[in-house]
Amino acid sequence: MAKVLLENIKRRFNNVTAVEDITFEIPDGEFWVLVGPSGCGKSTILRTIAGLEMATSGNLFIGDRLVNDIPARARDVAMVFQNYALYPHKTVAQNIAFGLEMRKVDRKKIQERVLTVARSLSLEHLLDRKPKQLSGGQQQRVALGRAIAREPQLFLLDEPLSNLDAQLRDDTRAELKQLHQQLGITTIYVTHDQVEAMTLADKIVVLNRGRIQQIGDPQSIYALPANEMVASFLGNPPMNILPAIYKGDNFDISGQLLAIPENIKAGLNLHPEQICNLGIRPEHISIGNINEPQRRRERREENLEGLFVEVKVVEPLGRETLIRVSLPGSSGFINVQVGGGVRLHPGENLHLHLDLNHLFVFETGTGERIF
Ligand code: ATP
Repeated sequence: MAKVLLENIKRRFNNVTAVEDITFEIPDGEFWVLVGPSGCGKSTILRTIAGLEMATSGNLFIGDRLVNDIPARARDVAMVFQNYALYPHKTVAQNIAFGLEMRKVDRKKIQERVLTVARSLSLEHLLDRKPKQLSGGQQQRVALGRAIAREPQLFLLDEPLSNLDAQLRDDTRAELKQLHQQLGITTIYVTHDQVEAMTLADKIVVLNRGRIQQIGDPQSIYALPANEMVASFLGNPPMNILPAIYKGDNFDISGQLLAIPENIKAGLNLHPEQICNLGIRPEHISIGNINEPQRRRERREENLEGLFVEVKVVEPLGRETLIRVSLPGSSGFINVQVGGGVRLHPGENLHLHLDLNHLFVFETGTGERIF
């Protein structure tokens, strides 16, 4: 096992800078996930750590060893890819044993090790089969087994579950987590799937356009995203982003005024008429009483902590219902997550209540969170 340190890693391909300014330190034994949209540079970072790419500049340490110029085979890392490429003519046992045979490990030791690894992955009844006689999930477990058998000090996984169907992916994800708890090998895992990132990681590194956006444990990043990209990337359905104009006491959202509570007003550093983006997660919006705003208006109470919307799409998911609504005159959707028993129909008008304790404000242009 080993800690991993990246210092200012940069990788250019001709004119394209794939990643730059990549600096982080993974403590020994932790499970870190690199996550971000396609092309953000996650695989380049992983391949650089593996030694399959050379950094254009920067330093890379595995354990206490500077490995910039150390070839892949001498780095003592195991990597599992999306297309796990097992040897088709070898049995499961031979596939798992392969790395050990290459290293001329004693035959008896190999047998013991193969059995231990196979047991930890529930593969012991499949040891004599060939890869084509296995399901996708079983093949992926063999690929993991082949990597684990070598007892690497570092485990690198590049989208290892993406070829599996949804159910199998969920199961294998849980197995992976359990396996890491058992073995404690430092692991770096690349995915574009935010659910995998949230569920597996000790720490998440969110990347966009070759740069780190935020590093933190899943809950902290979810609760306090550094910018609009991170906010809308982590969470399913994603955070709602609503363009607004700051009016001092209110935000103007497509012509509807949302009163700003005093505690938020005090923390806002916006100038009147400044355009910004408001962020609020679907679970922090509820359906209010449609008559309440009218009653308040009649009493000349201006504070309407909500928005009038029209229901566009209703998606019952059993335990909860996802509704997509629109502001009048606007084509974009606002996602709202409500209880499973709620009955709604497209075309219905609603008044939404926004829990402004969970409101974020992002600067237009930079996307930085300013509140
Ligand atoms: P995906 O999720 O689609 O695999 P990624 O986040 O892993 O994407 P990378 O594969 O690391 O992204 O690529 C990062 C950037 O570097 C992309 O713009 C990509 O086109 C570019 N890139 C990667 N490898 C090369 C290469 N060998 N030659 C030129 N450009 C490359």
